[in-house]
Amino acid sequence: MKLARSLDAGPRGFADGLLVELVGALREMNDGELVSLTSTRAATGPELLAWSKVTGHAIVTTTTTTTSSGVSHVWVVRKGEGVFGAEPSRPIGTRIWIYTNFDCNLRCDYCCVRSSPVAERRALGLASIRRVAEEARMLAVDGFYLTGGEPFLLVDIREIVETCASVAETTLLTNAMLFQGPRLERLRALPRDRVTLQVSVDSPTPALHDLHRGAGSWKKAMAGVRLARELGFRVRLAATVDTDEDERSFRSFLDAEDVAEEDRVIRRLAQRGFAEGGVALARGDLVPEVTLTANGVYWHPVGADDQDFFIQRDLFPLAGAIAAVREQWEREREHHDQLASVFHCA
Ligand code: SF4
Repeated sequence: MKLARSLDAGPRGFADGLLVELVGALREMNDGELVSLTSTRAATGPELLAWSKVTGHAIVTTTTTTTSSGVSHVWVVRKGEGVFGAEPSRPIGTRIWIYTNFDCNLRCDYCCVRSSPVAERRALGLASIRRVAEEARMLAVDGFYLTGGEPFLLVDIREIVETCASVAETTLLTNAMLFQGPRLERLRALPRDRVTLQVSVDSPTPALHDLHRGAGSWKKAMAGVRLARELGFRVRLAATVDTDEDERSFRSFLDAEDVAEEDRVIRRLAQRGFAEGGVALARGDLVPEVTLTANGVYWHPVGADDQDFFIQRDLFPLAGAIAAVREQWEREREHHDQLASVFHCA
């Protein structure tokens, strides 16, 4: 993580001058920059949390280490509110994100879940996905998002997609680089009805895309997009951008390609997983999206490899998993409202 400032508080708490020091550091920083605060005092955690909820500055990571010389706590605080979650809100649990696997043919330098060719597969498995779909049929789920890792590495990807699409609209996220041999046959065999392929393409030309995703990847991805369209798939293009300029240039490219508004996703780079730059995100910055992985239920797909986004181990019953996410969301909001009213009265 790129830090703008580091503060060593030792055993001091907010009442012993730490708050003044922290506020002073933030004054010298720009919105979105990070400051780390190291302390030997565990009670600083709740003080910092209450303060962050009132001020809107977010705690993006918390780490505790124990060594022979004692316990040390490090909190990383982002200046200002997050810019994610601007999407119109929808009832939590009406769409479900499924991490089919975590291994990938690429190793993008900003992959939010640390996927790569050497990452452990951690496949959710067809049997579990069938159960998710079956239970989702009884709930108000109207969409599945299948992601990874690269889902086309799985030999049973056709069965997985068929299972989900038989219940609800299904979007399959892919880098579109593996459409050869048996994998091409699996692509051909996928249903077209209620299935959208969402392909990662970051820039109008290879330069920026290849910089993050590897030499030659833009050309292969665009060939995959063309092939999928020829085979009759609805294809959505999804870009990860870091600046307003990158966003503008990608929009012009999509306009020139005549890509419909509903088939475009442009999102800011999130400082999660391998990413060293981008927006540092805390859980409270994001409206939750129920996310299922082989390791359990998570708050949002962007943090599906991070402990601070972990909700619970049990995926089933699915209604229970959705309820657990909703409950934690309610708690976040209640806490925020209570502290906000205390703040306003003071
Ligand atoms: S960002 Fe996507 S394509 Fe890149 S390593 Fe991660 S999962 Fe693979």
